[in-house]
Amino acid sequence: MMKIIHLKSPNYISYKKRRNIQSIVIHYTGMRSLQSAVERLISKKYEVSSHYLVSRAGKIMQLVKDNNIAWHAGISNWFNFKNLNKNSIGIELENKGHQYGYQDFPNKQITELIKILKRLKKKFKIQNINITGHSDIAPHRKTDPGEKFPWKKLYKNDLAIWHSLDEKFINNFRLKKLININKKNMVKMIKKLGYSRVLKAGHLDKDFTKAFQRRHRQQLINGIFDQECYLILNSLQKFI
Ligand SMILES: [Zn+2]
Repeated sequence: MMKIIHLKSPNYISYKKRRNIQSIVIHYTGMRSLQSAVERLISKKYEVSSHYLVSRAGKIMQLVKDNNIAWHAGISNWFNFKNLNKNSIGIELENKGHQYGYQDFPNKQITELIKILKRLKKKFKIQNINITGHSDIAPHRKTDPGEKFPWKKLYKNDLAIWHSLDEKFINNFRLKKLININKKNMVKMIKKLGYSRVLKAGHLDKDFTKAFQRRHRQQLINGIFDQECYLILNSLQKFI
């Protein structure tokens, strides 16, 4: 049994009918302390919330009921979904974030997160490709949960997509320039992963590429789509 502490955030839209939940968005709080994060998420003033918050010590808090709409995603796109609050569940992880000193995610926190994800995946029949990070759905505004978030571990728990290439092997292609690549095809492949509406004019700009790297090639976030990124992109096509 999962132990959940119930807190009440006023920042939601109540939903009477059964909500069409198709995705989960993972965030970090990006605040100096857990207390300030909780205060923000339950304060009317800020108009933000999430369904769950998991502390670094592994405490699970629920702030908004699953069937109500929490305000966590903002302007966002994923496949054909626009502004994902309506069709998603938001989970915040306590972490100071890039602004205040980005931290590793402790095992205790990830273990509890995995429990929540397993339960939600089953309850709402959510596909792994729709378990996303905030930076996936809003790459030009957001960097959370960031490159330290263990997507590979989620993949091993059948909760996310991840490439199936040998990491040492693909390392040889890092920082190598793309040559003789059909850029149009490359963009098509990227769009198929869910990034269909987030590319500005179908263009791989630096911020988007960084978001892709935070999600799929976490050791180097430089905003340049190199041969290693391309190999990863190819490997991910099996999930489509
Ligand atoms: Zn976020």
